[in-house]
Amino acid sequence: MGMTIKEATWSEGKDLAFEINKRVKIAREKYGSDDVINACLGTLADDNGDIIALDSVYKRLDEMDKKDIASYAPIEGEEEYRKLVIETLFANYKPDGYISAIATPGGTGAIRSAIFSYLGVGDPLICHDYYWAPYRKICQEFGRDFRTYEFFTDDFSFNIDAFRKEVETSLKDKDRIAPLINSPGNNPTGYSLSDEEWDQVIEFLKEKAADKNKKITLIVDVAYLEFAGDGDMQRRFFKKFSNLPENLLVIVCFSMSKSHTAYGLRSGAAVAISKNKEIIEEFEISLSHSARCNWSNGTHAAQNILIDLEKEENKGEYLDELVDLRTMLEDRAKEFVEVSKEKNLTMIPYFGGFFTFIPTPNAFDITRKLEGENIFTIPSDKGIRVAICGVAKDKIRRLVEKIAYYINEE
Ligand code: PLP
Repeated sequence: MGMTIKEATWSEGKDLAFEINKRVKIAREKYGSDDVINACLGTLADDNGDIIALDSVYKRLDEMDKKDIASYAPIEGEEEYRKLVIETLFANYKPDGYISAIATPGGTGAIRSAIFSYLGVGDPLICHDYYWAPYRKICQEFGRDFRTYEFFTDDFSFNIDAFRKEVETSLKDKDRIAPLINSPGNNPTGYSLSDEEWDQVIEFLKEKAADKNKKITLIVDVAYLEFAGDGDMQRRFFKKFSNLPENLLVIVCFSMSKSHTAYGLRSGAAVAISKNKEIIEEFEISLSHSARCNWSNGTHAAQNILIDLEKEENKGEYLDELVDLRTMLEDRAKEFVEVSKEKNLTMIPYFGGFFTFIPTPNAFDITRKLEGENIFTIPSDKGIRVAICGVAKDKIRRLVEKIAYYINEE
């Protein structure tokens, strides 16, 4: 006999990546970390496989007045935090228009609130067909219609035609839609839309917004922004969100998890951009209401850390550490790409982020065999996600060679 209501009853509540990560822990205890390759979870690890926690971030937590940790943050987030999120997120590419940020627990909270506030029951969320599974789960939880289109053309560039087609179809069915794009450094593929691809997306959505009966919310998940370029070039596309029609709202989902190695501190923000002030005021009220009903307040300590780090005298310390992390990740990615080429292993073009992706229809079989060799990756119907963020550069060759070996064996 079940007790949960129909809408809250699921056949499987566990998350694949976190489940596989439990097996990694067991393997590390049994064989030692040298013999285990942990490429399953989206957290940056050092060359010993231990999670990295930035000194600049955690020094602040150590030194923080307990009252600033214990106390509630305002429901919408600390005023200064909200301002700094906008500044650090957009940097030199702040779009023109009214902009507001509401604090959320991580990027997940921002994505959840964007989906909840801007789609009704049965309205379509339109996503690329390589995607982070919680998008679908959030839609299922709220009864939103999760739809996908083919992310890539045959030569692995953004499939704008497939995007257009799904948007068209959805707008025929419904007056409200929300396309969601996770770029730069897409999870699970490492793909980033180019500026030209963004132009095509925006131009097309603008055309569709000419019909004023339609309400379009573009949700942009930039969880891996800081690891998808030199810190500035990958932000250029933000400027394209300037002066959009009133019925085309953009919500950028910001997260401190990856950029500040603050996964467990749970801090992020939903950042809305519109040329209409009232639409932004409505956004603030709606998302604050959701906050109050779901988590009430964000993590005060995390907001205070960002505020402190962004002070002129502290900025450099954080940025130096971030540059080191980026370099470490780039070195791992470069090695992965080079060895893949050498081994003729097809991968989706990597532009940034924590993951590389090897397309194969046999991912579940192959990852099981890899586990037999203490190599832990994540399978899906489309292929194998490899969290290079967790693998030392000198282990990458072995990792790629083993994947290539089992792929060729199939
Ligand atoms: N978006 C993507 C694509 C992610 O991979 C993640 C985390 O893994 C998130 C958003 C949100 O993370 P958080 O809620 O920790 O900010």
